[in-house]
Amino acid sequence: MKKLALILGLVSVLFAMVGRSVWADDCSLSVEAGDTLAYNLTSMSAPASCESVTVTLTHTGKMAANVMGHNWVLAKDADVNGVAMDGLTAGAGAGYLKADDSRILAATGLIGGGETSSVTFSTAGMVGSAMTFFCTFPGHSYVMKGKFSID
Ligand code: ZN
Repeated sequence: MKKLALILGLVSVLFAMVGRSVWADDCSLSVEAGDTLAYNLTSMSAPASCESVTVTLTHTGKMAANVMGHNWVLAKDADVNGVAMDGLTAGAGAGYLKADDSRILAATGLIGGGETSSVTFSTAGMVGSAMTFFCTFPGHSYVMKGKFSID
């Protein structure tokens, strides 16, 4: 029994080490969304030691981008509604994002089921800033959003 306890102890130490090394490389974040108006995460963050962050969005559903499209757009809390409204005006052809909108801090492409899109952005000026990630597909941003921070 003592041996078993020792082995279990070693295994848990190994798992803790693996967990830590994954944590240390947290400048790459993954998020998923399916055929519902929800991301699998309600908050995301990266350490301030990351000069840039890469976010990869995977659409795990089956519906097409013109029916249940999703993107991952980052903006300051106060800019979310404005970015979403102007995205609506910009339309499907623009991926529901206004061109050259300086309020958009980062944005992936608009994707459908089975697709993946990534964006890499600088974290300069983001430390301590209250930011929200959201989907600009019509009607989605009201519920499809979460908190984002660099800290
Ligand atoms: Zn969406």
